[in-house]
Amino acid sequence: MSQDKGRTEYKENSNKMTTPDESMLFLKDIVKRFGGLTAVDNVSFTVDPNTITGLIGPNGAGKSTLFNCITGITQPDSGTIQLNNTEIQKESPNQIAQHGLGRTFQTPKIFRGMSVRENLAFAAPEQRGERPVSALVHSQLVKDEEKTIQSQVENTLQFLSLNHLADEYASGLSGGQRKLLELGRVLMLDPDLILLDEPMAGVNPALTDELLDRLHELTDRGRTILLIEHDMDLIMNHCDQVVVLHNGQTLASGPPSVIQDDERVVNAYLEDFDYG
Ligand code: ADP
Ligand code: MG
Repeated sequence: MSQDKGRTEYKENSNKMTTPDESMLFLKDIVKRFGGLTAVDNVSFTVDPNTITGLIGPNGAGKSTLFNCITGITQPDSGTIQLNNTEIQKESPNQIAQHGLGRTFQTPKIFRGMSVRENLAFAAPEQRGERPVSALVHSQLVKDEEKTIQSQVENTLQFLSLNHLADEYASGLSGGQRKLLELGRVLMLDPDLILLDEPMAGVNPALTDELLDRLHELTDRGRTILLIEHDMDLIMNHCDQVVVLHNGQTLASGPPSVIQDDERVVNAYLEDFDYG
């Protein structure tokens, strides 16, 4: 964690409707088809800065496809995606990351044969440009860069309480510790918006609490989080907003208290919400 990102007043005014320009992420009429199947069918919603938004819905609802559209792994057939006021629906994953997006995967992408510390250091973006400078200046730049990365690594280890595991091989970590490490690798890129795909799956309860505390601290520090999660208690207790997808469409969206009582959501759950 290199710096805090000027927390705004959004949480204090959580009923305030943000305009597309004020939102961290803005999706408008997103459509994604696979042959004859419309996996994402005209989905629109906004994610406000400094909040945790939960994306839920039964298997096949279109959650992962929507995540892939936002991260640039696939492109929507139509619709607009705006991140930090920049349209990204036609950009590559690398370009989108440069606009401030970080993501984790359902199965953590870490180097098992490297230590925790090395895993974090290798996640740091290349900071030195290809500038024509003298060998002396160049080596000083490299040293400065190494120092910056080292201090970012130490801050991240501390933030995630991974100090005691810093020199362990990632292969020796528990499932929950790997998820923390993957989050750490994402934080090394200093993203504004973090997409998490089932961050709590396979994590033991003690680490789940730890991970949730860290997510809240991240929003307090000016980051924004969008997560896919199946645990309803967790969604209802920890998200500021919830978006419910069903058959590729937005069934409902709003604060947990509203979603909980929404008849369409309750019916959908009774009907065929089958988590996993
Ligand atoms: P969720 O993540 O909510 O379970 P998905 O986004 O994975 O849902 O899937 C939505 C629908 O799109 C499903 O019917 C799924 O079978 C289909 N689908 C997803 N990816 C592809 C693909 N690459 N090719 C064809 N169909 C796909
Ligand atoms: Mg999925």
